[in-house]
Amino acid sequence: MKGILVLFTIFEHALLSNAAGHEAWNYTDQGAWSSMTGSQCSGTSQSPINFPPMVEMVYSENLKPFSLTGYDQLVTSPTIENNGHSVTVKFTNEAHVSGGDLGSKFKAAQFHFHWGNDNNRGSEHTYNGKTYPAELHVVHYNTKYADINEAVSKPDGLAVLGFFIEVGPIHNCNFGPVIDTLKNIPDKGNSTSLTPFKLRHILPMQLRDYYRYMGSLTTPPCSETVKWTVFRDRLYMSEEQLQEFRKIYFDSSKTKLMVDNWRPPQPRNGRKVYISFDVKANSSPVHLFNFILAIVIFCVQLLCV
Ligand SMILES: [Zn+2]
Repeated sequence: MKGILVLFTIFEHALLSNAAGHEAWNYTDQGAWSSMTGSQCSGTSQSPINFPPMVEMVYSENLKPFSLTGYDQLVTSPTIENNGHSVTVKFTNEAHVSGGDLGSKFKAAQFHFHWGNDNNRGSEHTYNGKTYPAELHVVHYNTKYADINEAVSKPDGLAVLGFFIEVGPIHNCNFGPVIDTLKNIPDKGNSTSLTPFKLRHILPMQLRDYYRYMGSLTTPPCSETVKWTVFRDRLYMSEEQLQEFRKIYFDSSKTKLMVDNWRPPQPRNGRKVYISFDVKANSSPVHLFNFILAIVIFCVQLLCV
């Protein structure tokens, strides 16, 4: 009898410790997130946030350029999954990010997207009140921990690189491998392999200018363990490419289209937002250079559509 009781207690513990990550939740009733087991969703350092105007952010000399390794290699065994909240791409190769005042080396674990029902909304972070049609999150965990499951509960466990996505006039062929497979994962639980690609190619050319703050996961259990970096340079997708995201479903019985899978900005509660570039020192030649660079990138993208 005693043995059975002990077994039951162990089983119950196992259930509880898993609960925060596996309880059912949705984007329609975000108020319910706070009452989930192990939830930090009503904490004081939550994400996303609205980035204030440049003058209200603090320039920090410590925010040096990032160093990316493994980003220029083709990903191995890439898979894409509809997990009922987003589409998540995983791979087996090693890709790391360091520098940028991250304080450690972080390993890329997966990337996923947030998007709206139309182009007026979709991003989680906003800039000076402006919302973008979609947002890309590349999730990394601190290599001092064994894996992402161990890292997610540690204060220095995660580093997420975030990118605003805007509508551009042409297809962004760098997202081709991802977007081409969306039609194969319409239902929750579907997953498939995708054509290998280079991680670096899905990011903007210029990664020097970024915003930094301490925050959380934007989905339950909203763990406050994320060093956030959101980049000033935006990514582009065509209207048709964004529409492909809006054709898949939250559920497995195709009753609810997967749109508006974003959490709105949370109170900053006095948290400072740092920027890696000095607004006052930004001279016009730099802007001119960026402008020319943007045109060159666009021309290169034209070659591959
Ligand atoms: Zn995300």
